[in-house]
Amino acid sequence: MDPITALLDDVLDEIAPQDAGAPADYIPELAAADTDRLAFAVVGPHGRVRAVGDDAAEFTIQSISKPFVLALALQELGRERVLARVGVEPSGEPFNAISLEMGTGRPANPMINAGAIAVSSLVPGGDVDERTARIVETLSAFAGRSLWVDEAVYASESATGDRNRALAHLLRSHGVLEGEVETAVEAYFRQCSLLVTVRDLAVMAATLAFGGVNPLTRRRVIDERVARDVLSIMGSCGMYDFSGEWMLRVGLPAKSGVSGGLLAVAPSQFGVAAFSPRLDTHGNSVRSVLVVEELAERFGMHMLESH
Ligand code: GLU
Repeated sequence: MDPITALLDDVLDEIAPQDAGAPADYIPELAAADTDRLAFAVVGPHGRVRAVGDDAAEFTIQSISKPFVLALALQELGRERVLARVGVEPSGEPFNAISLEMGTGRPANPMINAGAIAVSSLVPGGDVDERTARIVETLSAFAGRSLWVDEAVYASESATGDRNRALAHLLRSHGVLEGEVETAVEAYFRQCSLLVTVRDLAVMAATLAFGGVNPLTRRRVIDERVARDVLSIMGSCGMYDFSGEWMLRVGLPAKSGVSGGLLAVAPSQFGVAAFSPRLDTHGNSVRSVLVVEELAERFGMHMLESH
């Protein structure tokens, strides 16, 4: 076993016994998750994936789709047109908060639902299928393989998505949402329901780490400047209302999702991802946070540390 995989194994043994938290239950399909699952992976500059635990387990990407759909919108429309619809300030509020700027109606940032729905509505595409296809194509390029929507989770999200629909109606009343409410939310539910593994997420994180070039496929997915913009926003807003404390403790841009996934980016070094369904009160996976925190510590990855 190579030394990095041995280190990952060691961290796995250390974190596995932790059993605090509970899976998300506001979407029925997520409540049914196998809570014992734990996996994580790292990907370096040469695209080699090292993974431990249940690394073949698939789960829905949920909020971790948000930075990648933001990347797509920034790439297509440019920074100014995106910023006209969404801010870049941490909200300090839960992911589903009704947090719109006075006057403009812009959501605080693209990592909370209101902002993510606004950004998703900017993705070119006349109907849900066209827009979803565009999103799936981009996220697949980040992952280096074709990703698929989990139709059962999608149906569950759509059936219980009243709050997201309400947010979309509010956005539309302020002229922040592009097109129709149903098109926007259905495409958003589909983007959240894409199936991934920790390997996929680690490759996606690594693509951001290496300036938009996927280290597995060697393909440029987005411009370097777009990758930098996305990482900046993940750095301040990626971990729900735990983002400030996360930056203090771990010091890496990251994004988590309610199915228990988490990815973090060490710029120019590697991408890392973890998965474990039990969540803390902020909506972050308890064990995924511990894993990335431990790896950041062992590899000395805090971005603001002087070397
Ligand atoms: N599909 C979820 C929602 O919008 C995503 C939430 C998340 O992962 O934070 O409710």
